[in-house]
Amino acid sequence: MIPAPFEYARAESVDHAIELLTANPDSKVIAGGHSLLPLMRLRLARPAMLVDISRIGDLAYVREDSGEVAIGALTRHHDVANSEVLHELCPIVSYTAGQIGDPQVRHVGTIGGSCAHSDPASDMPTVLVALGATLTVRGPGGASRVVPAADFFKGLFEPDLASNEIVAEIRVPVTRGRGWSYLKFHRRAQDWALVGVAALAGDGGAPAVALTNMGERPVRAIGVEEALAGGADPATAAMRADEGTNPPSDTFGSAEYRRELAKVLVRRALEEAAAR
Ligand SMILES: Cc1cc2nc3c(=O)[nH]c(=O)nc-3n(C[C@H](O)[C@H](O)[C@H](O)COP(=O)(O)OP(=O)(O)OC[C@H]3O[C@@H](n4cnc5c(N)ncnc54)[C@H](O)[C@@H]3O)c2cc1C
Repeated sequence: MIPAPFEYARAESVDHAIELLTANPDSKVIAGGHSLLPLMRLRLARPAMLVDISRIGDLAYVREDSGEVAIGALTRHHDVANSEVLHELCPIVSYTAGQIGDPQVRHVGTIGGSCAHSDPASDMPTVLVALGATLTVRGPGGASRVVPAADFFKGLFEPDLASNEIVAEIRVPVTRGRGWSYLKFHRRAQDWALVGVAALAGDGGAPAVALTNMGERPVRAIGVEEALAGGADPATAAMRADEGTNPPSDTFGSAEYRRELAKVLVRRALEEAAAR
């Protein structure tokens, strides 16, 4: 279908984008457009104005900064996947970016768009939750706030983001030396995950485990983490993968199927993380 009519404005900077969003309350940011445009074509989204941030050059970068890796919100999945800095300092992020969609999607979609869209089937939000990453959000009047990933993804397509705020940066910890794994089960190579699992081997403590598409937002597998902290082996701990989750039932699989799948994937992810 053809989207409903809309106005278009190109933002020259983050502050300019925020000004445009504030002056036009029914407006929406567009970055890669790979999630927003399909919704507009289905008329599930009908913004009166699109504020295009895709040409703001200083929001596309990956760099080491104060013991963390800082990733600009406009960095394309392809550039995240191929970042030498991430390969060395936080490889679960670059690996997962390389698993998103297909090459066309990865060359256009952005990490900030992936976060702001807040789709529970998306891969990167789960990894950010497992890592304890933070998001820097900018708003009117030069305001800036830092939100832990675990709080940013509030619900189904519901980020912690006002209509005139912009995700500017994502910061992930350096995980050098820690084992890691991101596994997703999908029917075709470019499909979204039926279920996904991000696992990071413990850094002096128990491993961190988070799940994709097992509820309305990415969730930590609390039962698994608790079992591992208590000394359980991966296979035993993985049996608690669906604790506290609320997976959807759809044409791809029932909630019950997803619960069983989560247990299998968590076991495999823990084994892979331990072996890396
Ligand atoms: C065929 C196909 C397959 C895909 N497969 C996968 C997959 O396997 N795994 C996966 O995780 N994703 C997948 N995606 C989604 C893809 O990763 C999108 O690119 C991403 O979710 C959105 O990024 P974008 O830059 O295109 O955002 P857009 O579509 O431009 O925007 C998405 C939403 O975020 C808002 N937004 C964007 N950037 C910002 C910002 N910086 N600050 C504030 N708000 C912002 C927009 O207003 C909109 O509401 C797929 C998409 C397609 C089309």
